[in-house]
Amino acid sequence: MQKQRLVILGGGESGVGTAILGKQKGYEVFVSDKGTIKTHYKNVLNQFEIEWEEQQHTEAKILNANVVMKSPGIPDTVPLVKQLVANGIPVISEIEFAANYTEATIVGITGSNGKTTTTMLTNHVLQQAGLNVGMAGNIGDSFAKQVAEENYTSYVLEISSFQLDGIVDFKPHIAVITNITPDHLDRYEYKFENYIASKFRIAMNQTSDDYLIYDADDEVIVNWLEKHPVQSTLIPFSLQKKLENGAYIQDKNIILTIQNKTITMPTDSLALEGKHNTKNAMAASAVAQLLNIRKQTIRESMSGFQGVEHRLEKVLKIQNVQYINDSKATNINATYYALESMTTQTVWIVGGVDKGNDYSDLLPLVHEKVKAIICLGVDNSKIIESFGRVTDLMVETTSMSEAVKIAHKIAEKGENVLLSPACASFDLFENYEDRGTQFKNAVRSL
Ligand code: ADP
Repeated sequence: MQKQRLVILGGGESGVGTAILGKQKGYEVFVSDKGTIKTHYKNVLNQFEIEWEEQQHTEAKILNANVVMKSPGIPDTVPLVKQLVANGIPVISEIEFAANYTEATIVGITGSNGKTTTTMLTNHVLQQAGLNVGMAGNIGDSFAKQVAEENYTSYVLEISSFQLDGIVDFKPHIAVITNITPDHLDRYEYKFENYIASKFRIAMNQTSDDYLIYDADDEVIVNWLEKHPVQSTLIPFSLQKKLENGAYIQDKNIILTIQNKTITMPTDSLALEGKHNTKNAMAASAVAQLLNIRKQTIRESMSGFQGVEHRLEKVLKIQNVQYINDSKATNINATYYALESMTTQTVWIVGGVDKGNDYSDLLPLVHEKVKAIICLGVDNSKIIESFGRVTDLMVETTSMSEAVKIAHKIAEKGENVLLSPACASFDLFENYEDRGTQFKNAVRSL
């Protein structure tokens, strides 16, 4: 029988992982990248004797595919992708391809904010319970590579809307939608509905034997579910209302009830601070409860979790001023929760490349908690305009070390210095990790 031809567009982590898995499963594999492929990945492809090209897409080697895996970074609107679709060739994502080759229990986590945190928290509790669990998504090795090389019996996957756009049969046994706020709208014809629909694809193949865990305080999610019911068994969580089924708060305790089993956890025992993190803990605990993990293990995991770098990460206390790195806050919603979780006066470092931000939601919090704003971006005009009237002190800076030094001068004992930019980083930094690392280095050398 002639080999099936798998063409992979994009030679990054998910592309190379898929290539390895495809090769192992007997496909004839070809990887094509319009940009350059990192040396490390080229070496891996060569080692597995997988044919590849870079800085071009040779149509003759692509249009003869039986199936195409497209990296999440490539939009559907690219002419080559359109042509493949028009020719009736399935164009799928890595999770769709890889899920076919594993019997493991899959937990899929999506949402606009909190995916990585919830994924790592969930992975942590499953690991503490002794499950043979793999974690993938934007973290570490790709799902496809792990399916090829490991023997995990469960997976916790962080799943972006772009990955979900490329699924056909993919079905997580447990799905989580942390929240939905407008993001990446450039990829969704600037229609919020398209983006919401994309997130809900996580549940599209689920049956009543599967579970959908979601934020019941999020009106976008609740309204969508009313109009577009899913088959999944619903497990809501809320900070605002009592729920017979799911998780809610009573007297500073999380009460989580699933299938008549209840677990209680004091919110002040949670390792991660802030209301948003209470929600993330509710979601992760619900997953653990569904997988029959012992209550004690769930409690211990939620209180012992070490946190995730660049997400409300406590860096150092200097002269009793707490420095906090929230560089991953690249949108208003994430920064909203960061400011909300501040329990004392805060010097706020903000700015960068704004993705169409409306800062008005932050005004009350800034008024209440922020004593000074340090702008760190090439163009700070919108920030100055939005907050000029609610803060007495506003300083513009152009480097992290300058921003941190000024923050150090302004902050007094018992206060916080918070980097939570609400913007992307690429005007002054390589990416959010670089921004967060520069912040930490600047703090450490104060
Ligand atoms: P994602 O992977 O979805 O980008 P992260 O866990 O990396 O999410 O967090 C991104 C930013 O959002 C961080 O600033 C973090 O503090 C904040 N955040 C985390 N969880 C939530 C949540 N449930 N709601 C809103 N913001 C959140």
